[in-house]
Amino acid sequence: MTDIRTILHRTACDLSACGSPSPRLDADVLLMHFLKTDRLQLCMHPERNLSEEEAAGFARWVDRRRRGEPVAYIVGEKEFWSLRFEVNREVLIPRPETECLIEEVLGFYSPVGGDLRIIDIGTGSGAIGVVLARELPTARVAATDVSPGALTVAGRNAFVHGVAERMDFIQGDLFATVPGKFDLIVSNPPYIPADAYHLLPRGVREFEPQAALIAGPDGAAFHREIIREGADRLKGGGRIFLEIGAGHKELVETLFREEGAYGNIGFRKDYGGMDRVASARRKA
Ligand code: SAM
Ligand code: GLN
Repeated sequence: MTDIRTILHRTACDLSACGSPSPRLDADVLLMHFLKTDRLQLCMHPERNLSEEEAAGFARWVDRRRRGEPVAYIVGEKEFWSLRFEVNREVLIPRPETECLIEEVLGFYSPVGGDLRIIDIGTGSGAIGVVLARELPTARVAATDVSPGALTVAGRNAFVHGVAERMDFIQGDLFATVPGKFDLIVSNPPYIPADAYHLLPRGVREFEPQAALIAGPDGAAFHREIIREGADRLKGGGRIFLEIGAGHKELVETLFREEGAYGNIGFRKDYGGMDRVASARRKA
C-alpha cells in the first residue's frame, strides 16, 4: 500500500531527476487524472492508500513521463481556452500562445457576430475552430487537415463542446477540398524551419507529429501558400489571422504586402513578448 502523499513526493523526485521542468505539477496532474479526481481531493486526502493495482497502473504512467512523453498525451487531454480538449499523438497539443490568436479574432468579430463563414486550416485537435464556433454562435466553421487521425479527434472535440452541427471536418491540403469564399481565414500552420527542428524540446520531437511542425527551409512555406490563395478565398473586407513563429514578422509582412490584395496588416505579441499573430484585411 502507498499513500497519496508518499506517491506524489516520490514521483516528483523521480521526474525531477529525469529533467522535467515541472515535476510536482506533473505528478499532481498525472495522479489526479489517474484517480479520476481533482487536485483539491488529492490535497485533502493525502493519507488515502492506492491499491496495488492502482499503484502499478500509475507507475506505468510515471514511466511514460520519465521517458519524456508530454503529460497531455498520457492523460489524453489538454486545457485550451478553459475547455478540455481530447488529444492523442495524432494531434499537436494546443499551446497557450494560440489563445492570443483567438483573442485577436474576437477583438474584431465578437460584438458583430453575424453569419460568418470561417475556415480553420490545419485544425489539429480542433482547438481554434471549436473555440471560434462557441464564441461566435452564428458562425459556420470548415476545419481542414491533411491528417485523418487529427480530424477524428477534432470531430469528437466539436461534439463534446456542442458545436459539431456548425462545423464541417474536411480532409485535404490547405484550401483544396473546400470550395467558395470565406469571411474569415484562421490558421496555426506548421512553422518550424526544417533545420531548426532538432532544436525543439525532446518531448516535442519524439512525441508530437512532425507534419504539424515542420514547414520547409524557412518555416514559412504554409504562410506563403495560405496568404497567396487567401487573396482569392477571402470575401472583400474579410480577414485572415495566422499564428507565426520566431523571427517571422518581417517575412510575413512582406508576403502580405507583395500579394497586393491586403490592407490593415497587423501583428500581436504573445504574453512572452514574441510576435505571434499576423492579421490582415482583404481589400474590398
Ligand atoms: N490548429 C491546431 C492548434 O492550433 O493547436 C493544430 C496546429 S498544428 C501546428 C498544424 C496542423 O496542420 C497539423 O494538424 C497538421 O496535420 C496540419 N497540416 C499540415 N500540413 C497541412 C496541409 N498541407 N493542409 C492542411 N493541414 C495541414
Ligand atoms: N509553437 C509550436 C512549438 O513551439 C509550433 C507550432 C507550429 O509549428 N505551428 O512547438
